Amino acid sequence: MKHKPGKKIKVNRIPERGFYDSETINKIIDEALYCHISFIQDGHPFIIPTIHARMNDHLVFHGAKASRLLEQISSGEEIAVSFTILDGLVLARSVFHHSMNYRSVVIFGKGKLIENKIEKLTALEAITNHILPGRWNDARKPNEKELNATSVVSVKIDEASAKIRSGPPKDEEEDYDLPVWAGVIPFSKKFEQPEEDLKLKSGILLPDYIDKLIKSKS
Ligand SMILES: Cc1cc2nc3c(=O)[nH]c(=O)nc-3n(C[C@H](O)[C@H](O)[C@H](O)COP(=O)(O)OP(=O)(O)OC[C@H]3O[C@@H](n4cnc5c(N)ncnc54)[C@H](O)[C@@H]3O)c2cc1C
Repeated sequence: MKHKPGKKIKVNRIPERGFYDSETINKIIDEALYCHISFIQDGHPFIIPTIHARMNDHLVFHGAKASRLLEQISSGEEIAVSFTILDGLVLARSVFHHSMNYRSVVIFGKGKLIENKIEKLTALEAITNHILPGRWNDARKPNEKELNATSVVSVKIDEASAKIRSGPPKDEEEDYDLPVWAGVIPFSKKFEQPEEDLKLKSGILLPDYIDKLIKSKS
């Protein structure tokens, strides 16, 4: 994966918050549960949220055969994808310096349809396990009809940038004496206690991988 900050991916504002190495970028992509894909069609910009998974230096996406998004990605036109993880609210003494702590990534790449059945299933496994590690092996796999109704596309990550803000607010020197509470309210995503499907057969216990997820922080 090439991560030299060319003009397109160079973080201009507060450049010290910009990172271009695969390790930093991949970690954020893998932790984000979903992303937003933007593309231009007929001269109009569009942005669509969706689920992703990373397979080495490729991203994979799935959707209905009739999906405009999947069709657009398969066309091979360049797309941009963004991933955001919120880490906290940053409350400064002045409104001007309010901010958020975050880790975000923007990637650029071109997509193609995955037609080979084994590659398609491998990508679907990656997407399923990205949402919930362990789920693919537990749930019923797609049958021929479901597989035919699903498009799976892969996008090679050509260029990517990460931006990370962490730490306390930065106020103007003269504002530090103001009687205004300032600091960070950390934010972490957490899953709550699972609610059983009303039609769940009795005797099916909560799998360990779900228990692990609800006990984990993210
Ligand atoms: C949760 C959240 C809240 C934010 N709130 C604000 C806000 O209120 N106001 C504001 O001005 N900015 C905000 N930002 C930062 C914003 O995303 C841009 O970084 C900012 O507009 C400055 O961009 P730029 O001019 O440096 O880069 P641009 O010239 O706009 O972009 C150049 C390239 O830099 C890279 N890049 C820019 N921003 C990011 C990013 N966040 N993550 C990864 N790569 C990036 C991309 O590759 C992009 O193509 C927020 C970011 C996040 C994640």
